[in-house]
Amino acid sequence: MTITQDSVVTLHYTLRDDGGEVIDSSSPGSPLSYLHGRGNLIPGLERELQGKSAGDKLNVTVAPADGYGKYDETLVEQIPRRALKGISNIKVGMRLHAQTAHGPRTVTVTRIVGDMVTLDANHPLAGKSLSFEVEITAVREATEEERSHGHVHGPGGHHH
Ligand code: ZN
Repeated sequence: MTITQDSVVTLHYTLRDDGGEVIDSSSPGSPLSYLHGRGNLIPGLERELQGKSAGDKLNVTVAPADGYGKYDETLVEQIPRRALKGISNIKVGMRLHAQTAHGPRTVTVTRIVGDMVTLDANHPLAGKSLSFEVEITAVREATEEERSHGHVHGPGGHHH
């Protein structure tokens, strides 16, 4: 069967950035399962999987707008270290929950100069072209329960 709305799709994937560096991948022996057409994957990847079937391999390049969004400079702010109360050992690369000008957000510490800390609330993959290598291993229809929950149950999916 081919991938249509509410198919349960099982696949292996490797994700690389525009420099060819591997950012993420499914682990060997434990592929990813997702419910198709519910926004569980980024739009640019989900669109390319539509109509494909088990055994298909594809390479998909996703532009930032169809991935994790464009990089937004206004989501970067500098705050004094003392504003990060209760967080010790602040280091570049740390991800933390912080109160920002745009409300509570998960932010990444990107720079520390003296007493000033730069926080970036963009998704770490915002602004990047993403290159997916995908191998579809199985396609099946979703169960009633999966449809009503909007996600996959069982191996590779969501567990209760
Ligand atoms: Zn569920």
